[in-house]
Amino acid sequence: MKKIHHLVDGMSVEGTSGRTKPVFNPATGEITAEVDLASPSEVDAAVQVAERAFREWRHTSIAARTKHMFNFRALCLEHKDEIARRLTAEHGKVLSDSAGELARGIENIEYACGASEALKGSLSTNASTGIDVSTIRQPLGVVAGITPFNFPAMIPLWTIPNAIAAGNAFILKPSERDPSTPMLIAELFHEAGFPDGLLNVVNGDKEAVDALLDHELVRAISFVGSTPIAKYIYSRGTENGKRVQALAGAKNHMVVLPDADIDMAADAAVSAGFGSAGERCMAISVIVAVGDSADPIVEAISARTNKLVIGDGTDPTSEMGPLITEEHRDRVAGYVQAGADAGATVIVDGRDHTFEGDGFFLGASLIDNVTTDMSVYTDEIFGPVLAVVRVDTFDEALEMIEKNAWGNGTALFTRDGGAARRFHEEVEAGMVGINVPVPVPVGYHSFGGWNDSFFGDTTMYGPEGLRFYTRPKVTTTRWPDPSTSSVNLGFPTNE
Ligand code: NAD
Repeated sequence: MKKIHHLVDGMSVEGTSGRTKPVFNPATGEITAEVDLASPSEVDAAVQVAERAFREWRHTSIAARTKHMFNFRALCLEHKDEIARRLTAEHGKVLSDSAGELARGIENIEYACGASEALKGSLSTNASTGIDVSTIRQPLGVVAGITPFNFPAMIPLWTIPNAIAAGNAFILKPSERDPSTPMLIAELFHEAGFPDGLLNVVNGDKEAVDALLDHELVRAISFVGSTPIAKYIYSRGTENGKRVQALAGAKNHMVVLPDADIDMAADAAVSAGFGSAGERCMAISVIVAVGDSADPIVEAISARTNKLVIGDGTDPTSEMGPLITEEHRDRVAGYVQAGADAGATVIVDGRDHTFEGDGFFLGASLIDNVTTDMSVYTDEIFGPVLAVVRVDTFDEALEMIEKNAWGNGTALFTRDGGAARRFHEEVEAGMVGINVPVPVPVGYHSFGGWNDSFFGDTTMYGPEGLRFYTRPKVTTTRWPDPSTSSVNLGFPTNE
């Protein structure tokens, strides 16, 4: 049985807590590894190592930081197939999805390669006569990332490159459900030439997370995960005086107007709803069909859903893989039943799909005539279930999104520029797509939702990410000018 330990001070460190957790291959249902779960004292040891590394790293030149960052990018690209295979083996998503996730993660390393430009300070000369004022941004110290299972490569990369480029040291606490991918990425980070102790990985669960939230040397926490845990992290972290950004759950609406290109919208709905088995925080889970778009869009999505190829993510013909665990698969299936019980119309029932073996598979479901009081609408299902809510007007669609508790991503499908502009202006969500179903910002913009999808004020990666990992220092300077000073400073003068 493969054992997954911690990575501290550049070395693999075996856990001492005596607590471990099995890691599964969701496509076969087999246990493939056992991951160590860190105790508070193991977390403390990693934080102390990181603090020592920080004290040197903060003085390292931008040129050296950038050189290592370029090496890191090159190594991630060189090992991209290995990373994708590891990812699929523990998460289940199809290999092309794993490769795509890594590519989106690497964008953040690329952004951090340009930190020399992004971290430039500012200077005002003669703010008052002979007085200059400069602002620089300095690193915080040891910062921690706590990440979810659904993007085990991309989400750690949302945080590590910017934090390190800005001069911090990092502790990563990845999801205990698929820890092998972040471990590999951390090994490549060391191979890139970064000093030992700068990036440490402590595997674990709530116990390790709480130890990070309470540790006085941890200055900031970047969290990505479900809404209840995000709220908890935000309140406990900020109570302890830390800077916290906590990205949370979602229920993303895709509005289809009657003038939309129905084929384009249906393709988008299927890939955004069922890609990665719906286990994406930016997945589309609600189709808001406005007026006459409803019948054609339901028919077009239904036809495509019935043709979806579901199977082991390593099979190149598979378009959708399994869910992360058996319990989660059963929970998602329960929502399809709840929709039917509440009076919605199950157009495609994923439970009818049969699979061989013990993998955690479930077919994709399409549920029509959903209303906003049904659990299939109110809850984050995080699985391959698309709910269709029919409304008469664009106004009703906007109002529905505004009333929904979350506000991560949303999309509009239309050919009408005026409607698109209004959507962009008025919709209550942090990330908006116009004829783009999954509008995940590129690495040089920043990622974050609104309302119950985000707790904090500085969003993740890109310019906001660098801001999160730095604090401003403003210096006001006056130098005596020897040519005008009445005091003899010992400088040669013109006289
Ligand atoms: P999760 O909240 O269960 O776990 C996230 C992290 O928190 C993991 O590292 C886990 O070990 C830790 N954790 C779990 N329970 C904890 C507890 N009681 N106390 C302290 N720490 C705890 O999330 P998940 O199931 O791994 O991921 C799926 C969720 O993440 C979905 O809700 C999804 O929408 C969300 N997500 C959000 C974004 C975003 O950018 N907004 C991105 C990806 C995923």
